[in-house]
Amino acid sequence: MLASISSSVLRGVDGVPVTVEVHVAGGLPAFTVVGLPDTACREARDRVRAAILSSGLRWPQQRITVNLAPSGLPKAGSGLDLPMAIGVLVASGLLERERVDDVAFLGELGLDGAVRSVAGTVPLVDALAPSTVVVAPTCQAEAAVLGRHRVRAALTLAAVVAALEGTAEWMPCPAPVGGVEGPSSWEVGDLSEVRGQPLARRAIEVAAAGGHHLLLVGPPGAGKTMLAQRLVGLLPPLDPSVALETTKVHSAAGERLPAGGLISRAPFRAPHHGSSMAALVGGGSSWLRPGEISLASGGVLFLDELAEFAPAVLDALRQPLEEGRIRLARAHGAVSFPARFLLVAASNPCPCGNAGTPQLCRCSEAARRRYRRRLSAPLLDRFDLRLGVQRPDVDRLTGQGAEEGSEAVANRVSVAREIARRRGVGANSDLSGALLDRHAALDPSGRALLADALRQHRLTARGVDRVRRVARTLADLSGEVGPLLRDEHLSVALYLRAEPEALLGAES
Ligand SMILES: [Zn+2]
Repeated sequence: MLASISSSVLRGVDGVPVTVEVHVAGGLPAFTVVGLPDTACREARDRVRAAILSSGLRWPQQRITVNLAPSGLPKAGSGLDLPMAIGVLVASGLLERERVDDVAFLGELGLDGAVRSVAGTVPLVDALAPSTVVVAPTCQAEAAVLGRHRVRAALTLAAVVAALEGTAEWMPCPAPVGGVEGPSSWEVGDLSEVRGQPLARRAIEVAAAGGHHLLLVGPPGAGKTMLAQRLVGLLPPLDPSVALETTKVHSAAGERLPAGGLISRAPFRAPHHGSSMAALVGGGSSWLRPGEISLASGGVLFLDELAEFAPAVLDALRQPLEEGRIRLARAHGAVSFPARFLLVAASNPCPCGNAGTPQLCRCSEAARRRYRRRLSAPLLDRFDLRLGVQRPDVDRLTGQGAEEGSEAVANRVSVAREIARRRGVGANSDLSGALLDRHAALDPSGRALLADALRQHRLTARGVDRVRRVARTLADLSGEVGPLLRDEHLSVALYLRAEPEALLGAES
């Protein structure tokens, strides 16, 4: 007899529907899986057999052939265990065919028959046509994120069969606790705690409002990490489509999702400079896991100690910074992951961090030169905002009243983002070509100001557009939304884009 069971597999961060066809016929007992299974998928044979036997169900002593269709698509992982087991039971007549009509299955099986979670439940469910999907209890919230399927769960294969037959109940779906908080709801801290750093406070507000990449250079203790963390708290909640895309990426990477299943707040990722290329940009041998740059999509990627990252890793950031996606080529074709992140980087000005205070710096000139060269000019050029930060002085830390908190600043950020949306972009950092000319127009005096900066090599050709975008955001934040940029905003934008030499010391 033949059975066809609906399921899906991951390809990158997307699900692809798969039909598990199971054929049971007379002949020598055998169990074959065809249709490009990978090792984990092929090992399903042993898990499925053991799970069926430990569930007290009969294993057909016949010739069993499983075909995973479409057969040209490589299948990775163990999520097809459950659909295979159900297929064997249907094809051998142990479970009525009508019971699995319009039902899809996703789950790994333990040898004891336990139904286990699989990574990527959100995109996997997204690919399913049937109206009901059966998953592991731990995947219920994730499976329900899309809201298009009836989600059913059971702890064991025996419990799945009993519920399908109507002799037992499905597990109740736990009510989500804590609503729809995103991973960035971990303590990111309030902006009111950043005291005595007016310029840095201004820069992170501008970065958040316009989606502008930010580089902070300063000695240890200047609060660079603290600033980067506060920045993510200023970003508005994710748009529904971005929230879903971000959730799919985190799901496909096997990351823990918030209680409600959906990531609705901007993520904050801070990979260590020792992270491998695969961990950062994505990759892996059997299944392609999204990297940190994709997990940061929709939010902030914070690279602390930028100069310590491997040059190859920093090079690999260029394409996603341009395109908002990362393409990874593999034997079975290329996949691409979203990677639209706000890049915030921090660096010491020299290996010891004290280059700003010459009497404290212990570095040799050669060491400082080597350090500077790790930060290539093309990479530094991609930061819209480049800023030196110092340790705040005691007077400023203790004096004056309270600093403005995150909520007030986030409100201004959200207004600025709304203005950008009316221009047809998510943030001013996306303005280019005709849109930039229309919404960030230059009068003769503004043009002269930029021409001067170019002539004095304070600006590169690519930098011109970046300065215009930042000036646009500065104008929006001050409530001037007319299309013409004023000199005042261009000057501040130029000031917030300090020359690398001013931050890291001149090449000598
Ligand atoms: Zn030094």
